[in-house]
Amino acid sequence: MRLRLGLAANQLHHSHDDAALFRWLNACEHGIRELGIELHAVGRTHDAIMRAGMLANYTTLRRYPYGRAGGLMKLVAEVVGMDGDARTLDGAIYLIDPVDPSSVFPEAVALKRQCVIHAKPFLSTVASARNWIELERMHAGLAPDPGADDLYALESQTLALIAHDAMKPAMLAYAAEHFDTLSRFARRVATGTTGQRLNELAWSRGWPRGQAWADRYQSGPMGGDAQIADLVLERRCHRAIFFEDPHVARQHEADIQLLERAVTTVTDTAVCITTPRVAARWAEAVALRRSRRPGG
Ligand code: PGA
Repeated sequence: MRLRLGLAANQLHHSHDDAALFRWLNACEHGIRELGIELHAVGRTHDAIMRAGMLANYTTLRRYPYGRAGGLMKLVAEVVGMDGDARTLDGAIYLIDPVDPSSVFPEAVALKRQCVIHAKPFLSTVASARNWIELERMHAGLAPDPGADDLYALESQTLALIAHDAMKPAMLAYAAEHFDTLSRFARRVATGTTGQRLNELAWSRGWPRGQAWADRYQSGPMGGDAQIADLVLERRCHRAIFFEDPHVARQHEADIQLLERAVTTVTDTAVCITTPRVAARWAEAVALRRSRRPGG
């Protein structure tokens, strides 16, 4: 079945030849065509792609209204699901410029939230979007794209793991299931309570006692998200797996948003995964890729 993705980019990210939207398309146009992904692009983003002459003659690039005419709002409804299968998105790419005011408009926040609620990828950085295309290529049985090797070189990366209280069981189950893959990272960091639980899991699985599997920062509400955001901004953390609970009021909402905006600040190098389903699919893809590319 054809994959269907929403596509939007803040103005900065399609305003010049080497803008983020084009860096992503340069890296992924081939993969998009191989996978036959249907793209639902909001007006200005669509027009920028046309002007750049990218995705030429690609018949499943659809134009949506401008943002001010409701284009992004329509994508939110399509993430939830519209008109049966025909207008239901499998996820959304929204390349965010963190200082563009429209990135915090309600429709932008809702796009992310409905992706989380419906366990669909919300891809807010160039690296996240590149990572996702390669992940889907692996699940489609294709050969690894050497252009994505940087993203899959886990041994040179730091991974952040964060789970809100209702999601901690899912995080522990995820870490248990994919323990060997997650252990390949050069370093793991976590917010306080999540890290404690993960370390206990690791020790129960034979990780050396007295040695942290995940280095713990403060608990989220006490500023752990902000500390991890600083690592991201300094390019000392390259990937975040963040299991959010979208159904409760969060007293540290500002900190959560701060971390997610930090990721978009280093858009080419930081990947953020926000739901257990996408995280599992990514870990499976890592294993598939490795089996097709010894050492990779
Ligand atoms: P915690 O923080 O791991 O310390 O619970 C996560 C959060 O609630 O943001």
